[in-house]
Amino acid sequence: MPTPGKSNALIWINFQDKNLILDCGEGASLKLLQHNMDDDYLDAVIITHNHADHLSGLIMVIQMLHIQKRKKQLLVFLPEGEIFFLEMLSFFYLFPAKLSYPLIIRNICDIKNYYPEISLLENNHLAGYCDLIREAATGNKMKAYSILLNVQGVSALYSSDLNELISLEPYLDDLDLLILDGLHPSAAEIISLPQRTRAAIILNHGLSTELKKRLMEREDHPFILADETQEIEL
Ligand SMILES: [Zn+2]
Ligand SMILES: [Zn+2]
Repeated sequence: MPTPGKSNALIWINFQDKNLILDCGEGASLKLLQHNMDDDYLDAVIITHNHADHLSGLIMVIQMLHIQKRKKQLLVFLPEGEIFFLEMLSFFYLFPAKLSYPLIIRNICDIKNYYPEISLLENNHLAGYCDLIREAATGNKMKAYSILLNVQGVSALYSSDLNELISLEPYLDDLDLLILDGLHPSAAEIISLPQRTRAAIILNHGLSTELKKRLMEREDHPFILADETQEIEL
């Protein structure tokens, strides 16, 4: 749900001179401008799943970089529908061959070939659409991922949206930072998490009503609540 003063999903990650954004929700282009990002600064965009709050800013980012006369190639990793997305760009009069920069669209499963530091953790966030997709025969693949980054012994995980935490379980032991969806998983699952990991846990993407209530009951809770433009160094 759009909320005044709060942006949709976008996590900027910088490691070893690489600059990537994880998800690209509405307002992404404005956010990049607000941070004075140079037009060549961004290397790649990774979309975790095709919900609009994670993807809808990408068209304007592609257009903005063209108007800024970017020259460096931009990699975009999509969880599904790469060909459909390319066709949609022409619908917006953003013809890939005419952009000022090479736009490379890849399936997210190719990520290791470009960024070996990144691993994908698939989850069932979109599985609830199964019947609708079957009835309408739309061909959606319901692909949704969390993103794990391992760089020089530091391990950070962006859960993106997920219905339950089970897909994260095998990675909790070695984690330094977890940027966790505070909206979809059950409050009970989230509240018990700090006992199972030493990672700093940032709750983002809003909080469920139940989680908000549980956190207000104890002011000394161990979670960090995500803030707009928050920066974390590891
Ligand atoms: Zn979302
Ligand atoms: Zn979602």
